Amino acid sequence: METTRVGQRGVVFSFTEPFLTNVYVILGGNRTYICDTFCGPDSMTDLMAWLSENENPAEEMIIFNSHADYDHIWGNCLFKSTIVGHKLCRERAIREGEEALEKYGSHTQGQVKVIPPNLVFEDSVRWTDDGVMFFHTPGHTEDSASCYDERDQVLFVGDNVEHPLPYLNTLDFQTYLNTLDSYRKMDWMVLVTGHDAVQTDSTLLLTNREYISQMIQWDVDVFELDDDALKIHVYNLSKLTLDLVQGKIERKIGEHFAEVMMKIAQASDLEIDDKSMKRLRDVASETQANRL
Ligand SMILES: [Zn+2]
Repeated sequence: METTRVGQRGVVFSFTEPFLTNVYVILGGNRTYICDTFCGPDSMTDLMAWLSENENPAEEMIIFNSHADYDHIWGNCLFKSTIVGHKLCRERAIREGEEALEKYGSHTQGQVKVIPPNLVFEDSVRWTDDGVMFFHTPGHTEDSASCYDERDQVLFVGDNVEHPLPYLNTLDFQTYLNTLDSYRKMDWMVLVTGHDAVQTDSTLLLTNREYISQMIQWDVDVFELDDDALKIHVYNLSKLTLDLVQGKIERKIGEHFAEVMMKIAQASDLEIDDKSMKRLRDVASETQANRL
């Protein structure tokens, strides 16, 4: 666990196993705010020990979940506190929690019990005395939300911004773009993401924005993507096929999938599981059939 101080009262805790993940803590005068809880109670125990050793955290705690993906909520069970999240985040944690625990069980840090948010909001919720706001920012997932520290001007965006490309879970790219544009309009000095080094400029945000705006047109140039980005793009497409209604796939979508298939054939070291490959091929070939 590494720590990076941000602003006057923020600390980013970075955990590295099984993959780099950040937890952002705001030492508010009245409350201590913990944004995301990583993979389990053990990592949160380490975090709390560091805080009491190095800081003087307010006793009242507010836990915030940026979304219900397991790597952001599994540490909730350590806390007997208010756990804030978007209402869809609570619903997802309840609906998908056990399945995720089974699927990714090897990533648990300690004895995990899935605890959903117990204080939900639709648009936003704000602790005025501490200048801390949580607000709905659908993008990476429908339930994604962000945190803004008004005093330090630090914006925590969870997985809505990620290097090299964000992971997509819905076809509603326009909503995602709107969220990224709303971030651009806000005054922030520091941007904290779920899985990257702390950002002090908009470079990553803008690269992600470009990708999402290209997805709206289905014209991502796959021949321009480097290996890491291609991997994520292919992963995104295979996931999105589940929401594409077979038989009603627009020509430009099919053409894009066909291009991706060509690129995959060239990139010999790209590992794609058979199921995903079949889904990609189905979309690509369906459009080809329509063209005849
Ligand atoms: Zn994540």
